[in-house]
Amino acid sequence: MTTDLKTENTAKPWQRLHEADHELYALCEQELTRQRQGLELIASENFAPSTVITALANVFMNKYAEGLPAKRYYGGCSVTDDLECLAIERAKKLFNSSYANVQPHSGAQANAAALMALASPNDKILALDLAHGGHLTHGSAVNFSGRFYQSHFYGVCDRSGILDYERIAACAKEVQPQVIIAGASAYSRCIDFQKFHHISKEVGAYLLVDMAHIAGLVAAGVHPSPLPWADVVTTTTHKTLRGPRSGLMLWNNADLSTKLNKGVFPGTQGGPMQHVIVAKALCFKEAMHSSFVEYQRQTIANAKALAAEFERQGLAVLTGGTDNHLVLLDLSATKFSGKFAEQVLESAAISVNKNMIPGDKRSPMITSGVRIGTPAVTTRGMREQEMVTIATFIQRALENANNADYLVVLKHEVEAFAANFPLYPEW
Ligand SMILES: *Cc1c(COP(=O)(O)O)cnc(C)c1O
Repeated sequence: MTTDLKTENTAKPWQRLHEADHELYALCEQELTRQRQGLELIASENFAPSTVITALANVFMNKYAEGLPAKRYYGGCSVTDDLECLAIERAKKLFNSSYANVQPHSGAQANAAALMALASPNDKILALDLAHGGHLTHGSAVNFSGRFYQSHFYGVCDRSGILDYERIAACAKEVQPQVIIAGASAYSRCIDFQKFHHISKEVGAYLLVDMAHIAGLVAAGVHPSPLPWADVVTTTTHKTLRGPRSGLMLWNNADLSTKLNKGVFPGTQGGPMQHVIVAKALCFKEAMHSSFVEYQRQTIANAKALAAEFERQGLAVLTGGTDNHLVLLDLSATKFSGKFAEQVLESAAISVNKNMIPGDKRSPMITSGVRIGTPAVTTRGMREQEMVTIATFIQRALENANNADYLVVLKHEVEAFAANFPLYPEW
């Protein structure tokens, strides 16, 4: 190891593992190499800035701080209180909300807390079907949300792939849910939160908007915000928002504050991860920067370019395009399943994930679709013209799916292409 000034200034946070535990050091290095070499098109992933990753390694990790600022169950929390208040203020400012809880450990935890606060066991909840782009925590039978609540689902229109608000309203009237959940993991169009608000009010339900995927777009003002319309908004902070792996809850109605805060602690979590709250507060600050708005605009422009190129090549794009950071390929007219396409692309160093499509005849483990997102490649600096190249790589991989030699050559081509967009050059 050289120890010149440059290396010291840009030390990787795991550098000290080099002496302390060489096995762990080697794994961290292997993963950095993997992330650099391939094309990351998983829509829920991103590359947090090295400042955010470095910020995770701090001494707040040692502190127990159950409770809220100035209302803790432990002593020694005065500095922790200042930190958490700063993070809360930044979250409120970024998303223009009256209240925030920055303690959820993840998106799933934020949803557990919100449901704990707004519904009782056996109450009815109504959410987007998993097969139509919903999330496990929105009432799936294999998740707490499907075990503890009576879950009902609305879907997208089978033909267009777009949310049909009239049908959702009719469904809400019939089900009479306690909570309606809007938000998705695999939906490529703008969601009309105002319509969801009216549907919820009409049936006397709470509206929970889970903006996990689009939080960065919302923060940048390039997707309409759910904040004026939802009773509570939950999100992750590591997807388009490009922060640490974590969660967040936001709301405007003071009457819900006690319930929602209690839903997090003591409802569903113990001590908050204050060291992660440091990195979250940093990500909120970075998201207020004009360069972040530019990044989100480019993320959408890239997704649109990708969708247009797929269509030009004759691959079916669900909904015929995209308004956000992701594109859903409908492979049902091809000989490929989503699972097979995912595997073929992986052998060419392209990461995507299989995805159900509306009316899918295959199981969730096989599927007839693929979800492709642009947040990570946009962070690497790629623009529209690179999206055309990526669509071509994908097309070539699928066309030569059974030719292992071809895929090896293509993999090298993909890796050489990715190397033109250095990832973490400071490391
Ligand atoms: C990713 C996601 C979550 C879960 O987030 P985790 O941090 O993985 O727990 C919740 N809801 C939606 C809509 C998501 O896309």
